[in-house]
Amino acid sequence: MSDIDTLTELFMRFPGIGPRQAKRFVFFLLRQDAGYRNALTRAITDVVSNIKRCEQCLRFAPLHAQKPICNLCADSSREKNLLMVVEKDTDIDQIEKSDSYNGQYFVLGGTLSLTGKKGFIREKELFSHFKKQDSFAEIILALSATPDGEYTTDYLQTKFKEDEHVKEASVTILGRGLSTGSELEYADADTLTQALKNRA
Ligand SMILES: [Zn+2]
Repeated sequence: MSDIDTLTELFMRFPGIGPRQAKRFVFFLLRQDAGYRNALTRAITDVVSNIKRCEQCLRFAPLHAQKPICNLCADSSREKNLLMVVEKDTDIDQIEKSDSYNGQYFVLGGTLSLTGKKGFIREKELFSHFKKQDSFAEIILALSATPDGEYTTDYLQTKFKEDEHVKEASVTILGRGLSTGSELEYADADTLTQALKNRA
């Protein structure tokens, strides 16, 4: 396989990238000057070696120098007994930008699927997180307002009631200020603040 084919195949693994786009990326790179190409190579190496998964919330972030956790999990000024469960890392960025939440996070990694396509959630990790942490007073399920998101929310609510570590916690859902079918990562700060206020 030629070098061009190898790189094309690697780009094709990116979400939403087909063979034609992947090849366009390769030729774009070839046309750039050495400054850009070196910066890109360095940035990839740096991200891969400096960004790790936080052992607590499971998001990707630069980790604390002494502990394998991220800055949010290490921040002692954040409320310890409040947990928000989100689908993806980028949802945390959105919530943080809205400046309306000061608790802990857990990244579920996806949703279960109603439609037969492959669903995925870090269920085992979530429940072992409950076992390790002091009990949470409230767990906010902040999943997408999509059929799969709502299905996953229902599923987890049932599971929480059966779990000795969280069955006493109050479980809330982000207010439906979020429009139906919407994913958290596309919601603006005001909508998120409102949805958080209206959680029930
Ligand atoms: Zn963390």
